[in-house]
Amino acid sequence: MPTSPGPHHTRPLLAQVVLALLFCLPGLALTAEPLRLQLRWLPQFQFAGYYMAQEKGYYREAGLEVEILPGGPGTPNPIDSLLAREVDFAISNSGLVIAHMAGKPVVALAALMQSSPSVWIVRADSGIYTPHDLAGKRVMAMPLPESAELRIMLMREGIRLDQVQEQPTSFNPQDLIDGHTDAYNGYVSNEPFWLQQRQVPYRLLKPREYGVNFYNDVLSTHADLLHRRPEQVDAFLQASLRGWQYALEHIEESIQLIHQQHAPQKSLAHLRFEAEALRQLIMPELVQLGHMNPGRWETIAQHYVQLGLAQGSLDLDRFLYTRRLETDHRLLYQIVAGGLLTLLLVTAIALRFAHLSARLRREVGRRREAEEQLLQSNQRLEELANTDRLTGQWTRRKFEEVALQAIAGAERYGEPLSLIFLDLDHFKQINDQHGHDVGDKVLSALAQRLRSHLRKADSLCRWGGEEFVILMPHTELGHACELAEKLRGQVASAPLYADLRVTASFGVSQWQPGQSLNQLVDSADRLLYRAKQGGRNRVECMPRPADQAGELGSRT
Ligand code: GH3
Ligand code: MG
Ligand code: MG
Repeated sequence: MPTSPGPHHTRPLLAQVVLALLFCLPGLALTAEPLRLQLRWLPQFQFAGYYMAQEKGYYREAGLEVEILPGGPGTPNPIDSLLAREVDFAISNSGLVIAHMAGKPVVALAALMQSSPSVWIVRADSGIYTPHDLAGKRVMAMPLPESAELRIMLMREGIRLDQVQEQPTSFNPQDLIDGHTDAYNGYVSNEPFWLQQRQVPYRLLKPREYGVNFYNDVLSTHADLLHRRPEQVDAFLQASLRGWQYALEHIEESIQLIHQQHAPQKSLAHLRFEAEALRQLIMPELVQLGHMNPGRWETIAQHYVQLGLAQGSLDLDRFLYTRRLETDHRLLYQIVAGGLLTLLLVTAIALRFAHLSARLRREVGRRREAEEQLLQSNQRLEELANTDRLTGQWTRRKFEEVALQAIAGAERYGEPLSLIFLDLDHFKQINDQHGHDVGDKVLSALAQRLRSHLRKADSLCRWGGEEFVILMPHTELGHACELAEKLRGQVASAPLYADLRVTASFGVSQWQPGQSLNQLVDSADRLLYRAKQGGRNRVECMPRPADQAGELGSRT
């Protein structure tokens, strides 16, 4: 036999699990003693919900063992069986309220059909169109209270019961075809199919169309059972309604099951006809399954009183089952569980985002730091490349960069620019006599002394070995020569390191428009060479235009 997860397959999985848990927990506390449900007729689609609740295991899930007892000819009235405690649940028509008004301990749990399937069936060629037309006609009817809704329909249309020729029902619709009666009492879900098969045209007089709405197929229990085991009663009711929901959503599957297991004598076509007719009375699209309106029950009770079937009062609080608050909590729990799950999900997503963005921030921070370090080390490398290690002055590389800018400035603004080239005298001897390290100390001290006599704008560069170059922007040759002379005196005046005295020779040039840096340096270098040749510890200046006749400006 096919089984499937249940009617709520459209629910999310978690909701199903929560639901199953909520249904199972109270179920565990219930007894395993089988509950007996008495149907009111032979097995057919009319009881599909109960069969499907059994088939799909909804009763078992709720911790219930349920026995479904078919009704029909020869079986006692379900309400009598219920009151005799032979069964725990019964299905009856609205006549249940008569028992209640007579003081019997019955409780209505749910009404499946929102109006009665009872109809009078007349032949299409009978000339009977409304209840009015039944006056004086032969009319079959079940004894009361079964036929209550049909009789009320007549009364509401102004026809007294003694105006029709009442016949006891023969339970055989052939009598309608054979002309033994003018109106046959039947079920909208049953005899019309039979007549259609025999191609006998017919018409139906339906109580609903005349404002008579009796509930039908009312599920009921004994007040004592509800009092002693409310959870069990509620579990049975909920599982049964769940079964009904499944059956109505899977009509063909339900029909097949009923045909194979419970009603082999009813054809599939007949079951399909029945299902469609009953679905129209259950109205699952409009009404919540099993819904009962207290006002409707009051009207039904009044009708029974009118027919002389009931007396006494209707106590709706006792007669109608209302789910206890505790059981309502299940829905609340489901909502809360759903809410919590959503909250959990949202929190998880938010945390994940927070985690990712924190990681991103850390990563950005790390990169910024790395970039900073790279920048700093590049600057450091640049400094190293630009600074002479021994003297702390600029290297030739940096000097050339600065000097080119200074030449460009001089070119553009016509500013004077001068350059001094100097070289220590007989420095080899210092190295030879005192060692290379001492030579280094002397070079370092020389650089400090030179720097201390220069302006900020002047650039001092270690050209190589013991040769230095000084670039002086905005400086005329005359000033440059004076400065060179001053420096020469400063070098020679006092020992540079320990008691070591050294002297230096100087060449001084002024930049000439159009001259390159190399040409300027060469010019100063040539003058330095001349100073060496002239006896060292001397300054050789570039000849001024006036000097060019022969004499070169040189001072010692
Ligand atoms: P001159 O008066 O002709 O210039 O004589 P000089 O001995 O100075 O001769 P020259 O300039 O040709 O020789 C430079 C010497 O400077 C060679 C080398 O021993 C020394 N020297 C060059 N660079 C360094 C250095 O970095 N440290 C030391 N201690 N000595 C150096
Ligand atoms: Mg030299
Ligand atoms: Mg030298």
